[in-house]
Amino acid sequence: MPNTTLPRLELNAVSRRFEGQNALDAVSFALMPGEVVCLLGPSGCGKSTTLRLAAGVDQPDEGTIRISGKTVATAQRSTPPEARSIGLIFQDFALFPHLTVAQNIAFGLKSPKNTRQDRVARLLARVELMGYEAKFPHQLSGGEQQRVALARALAPRPDILLMDEPFSGLDDRLRDDVRDATLDILKEEGTSVLLVTHEPTEAMRMADRIALMREGRIVQMGPPYTIYNQPVDKRAAGFFSDINVLQSRVVKGTIRTPFGRFIAPAIAEGNAVEIVFRPQHLHIDFDRADAKPSETPERGLPARAKVERVRFMGDLSLIEFRMEKTAEIIKATVPGMFLPPPGTVFWLSLRRDRCFVFPGN
Ligand code: ATP
Repeated sequence: MPNTTLPRLELNAVSRRFEGQNALDAVSFALMPGEVVCLLGPSGCGKSTTLRLAAGVDQPDEGTIRISGKTVATAQRSTPPEARSIGLIFQDFALFPHLTVAQNIAFGLKSPKNTRQDRVARLLARVELMGYEAKFPHQLSGGEQQRVALARALAPRPDILLMDEPFSGLDDRLRDDVRDATLDILKEEGTSVLLVTHEPTEAMRMADRIALMREGRIVQMGPPYTIYNQPVDKRAAGFFSDINVLQSRVVKGTIRTPFGRFIAPAIAEGNAVEIVFRPQHLHIDFDRADAKPSETPERGLPARAKVERVRFMGDLSLIEFRMEKTAEIIKATVPGMFLPPPGTVFWLSLRRDRCFVFPGN
């Protein structure tokens, strides 16, 4: 019986320095059996370094890495990649051009010939490439090559699959299909996956948990829903969508805004605060421009604003408003086409449960 509580991969206070600079700074997390964890963050935040350390092509300066309970790396010693039970898929797939599809998939298999052929056939069926055994990589489309690369990486049943931006070489329309198909196969095989991406939508789509990275650290880790709806700070909120920010200050324990008062959780009197919310959570009262809508606990106090600019984005419309009281610009998105002429006045309100209160500068 596989141990389902023992992490497949565990990083404990792992640091890596290049030229005196911390590329990774005390990173700790666990990847559980059958789990897909996405390392997400801007360029240079340390995603690929984390993956390279897990793969064993680089060694930590501090900390410990374990795979299925066994220590594979410390600052003193490192198990080579081929002895780690890992599968690797990188952006360029790197299929062997002179080997057939079947030979590519069988490459890492040490089992007897008939079991090997059986595993190859099963994997080809799983990636929906039956009958492609004798083809060469140059005879395949990008999506098909990616599926062969997946089958090859999964063939030896690795403990962990490490994927670095595996879909970025595919064109947009193909990418969604390949991504969904890949996820189905990974879940069927029960593979534990550590996937690097800089695209929030990809992480939201693929991950059981997202590890949001910044400047060599994990700033937040959790399921996509939590990361999106309970961001730890303004930058974490802003990584997933456009955001609006209202600046204010704590006065007598509350925060005054054009949308009424907010309570100030654990922020000291007199300190600056920021109320952060996503454009889709700004509510526009489409009917009444003159009569003021009433205050509600869910939406707080409505505030008047004038349309400054409108843009049609295809599946939604983006409206920029200037607040009447404070002259601040705030943005709203509305599904479909809603393009009021600039200068039109509306009452706006906020979904209180979707507003985040953070310390300001
Ligand atoms: P990207 O999305 O651009 O690939 P990333 O989040 O994967 O970025 P890393 O490649 O892990 O980032 O790099 C983290 C930091 O470490 C960067 O500042 C990078 O310049 C530095 N770095 C990585 N590898 C080396 C190296 N071999 N030598 C020197 N600096 C390095």
